[in-house]
Amino acid sequence: MPQPKNAMEIFQLLDKSNCRECGEKTCLAFAGAVFKGKRQLKECPRLDPEIIERFSGEPEDQNAAEQNRDAYLEKLKNEIANLDLAQAAKRVEGQFSDDKLTLKVLGKNFSVNTKGNLSTDIHINPWVAIPFLTYILYGKGVPVSGNWVSFRELKDGKERYPLFQKRCEEPLKRVADNYTDLFDDMVHVLSGKQVEEQFESDISVVLHPLPKVPVMVCYWLPEEGLESSINVFFDQTADKNLDIGSVFTLGVGLTQMFEKIAQRHGFPESAFSQ
Ligand code: SF4
Repeated sequence: MPQPKNAMEIFQLLDKSNCRECGEKTCLAFAGAVFKGKRQLKECPRLDPEIIERFSGEPEDQNAAEQNRDAYLEKLKNEIANLDLAQAAKRVEGQFSDDKLTLKVLGKNFSVNTKGNLSTDIHINPWVAIPFLTYILYGKGVPVSGNWVSFRELKDGKERYPLFQKRCEEPLKRVADNYTDLFDDMVHVLSGKQVEEQFESDISVVLHPLPKVPVMVCYWLPEEGLESSINVFFDQTADKNLDIGSVFTLGVGLTQMFEKIAQRHGFPESAFSQ
């Protein structure tokens, strides 16, 4: 288990939003308190459970993680109730009518009303709901640049979520290797768009989990003794339109959704495990 050498090392793990949900005035104050042993990392609800596990040595407590996540979702909904949704709609490329702000999430309507209540044509999963609300609350509305970068190139991606490849790209590759309709589903079920192959890949598909946060999945087929591979790219503005924790949540959530779709088509769970 790695031990942080100083408070700054702990601070680097935090999302630096100074949201105060831990009861401290700033993330730096929280980091200092953790370093002195007065607080525990797991008391920051915005921290990924894997980071907590890695640094505290405690296995992830699924119930506690879910409770934290639900409490955080409620907090975001309360914040939405204090936001001018009509104004926010212009910033986040949404539509405001009948007291609701609606965004296209993977081609489907996803709405929140002025009281913070969510409604959608699809199932409300926390992996969509939390990024959806943080995008509306904190997204800067920066235009998409068209420049694709890896997760680790986004601000704080590498430091705070070093397991992105393990949690998103590796399992997604296993799905693509086994379930050949994966990319068809991305296009036809999730309103993705097959684009000209990027980075010399064999297949490139762009998805829009949020209007200004496109995701590009590139797949390289196996050849001449080389294994297949997959990379997930984000627009270089993704860390301005969404906090890095939510970008991570989207990537992992998408992967888990594809695993479930493939299982429904008859592939056993063991086909995707290492
Ligand atoms: S809850 Fe986490 S992100 Fe919020 S101020 Fe505390 S340490 Fe920072």
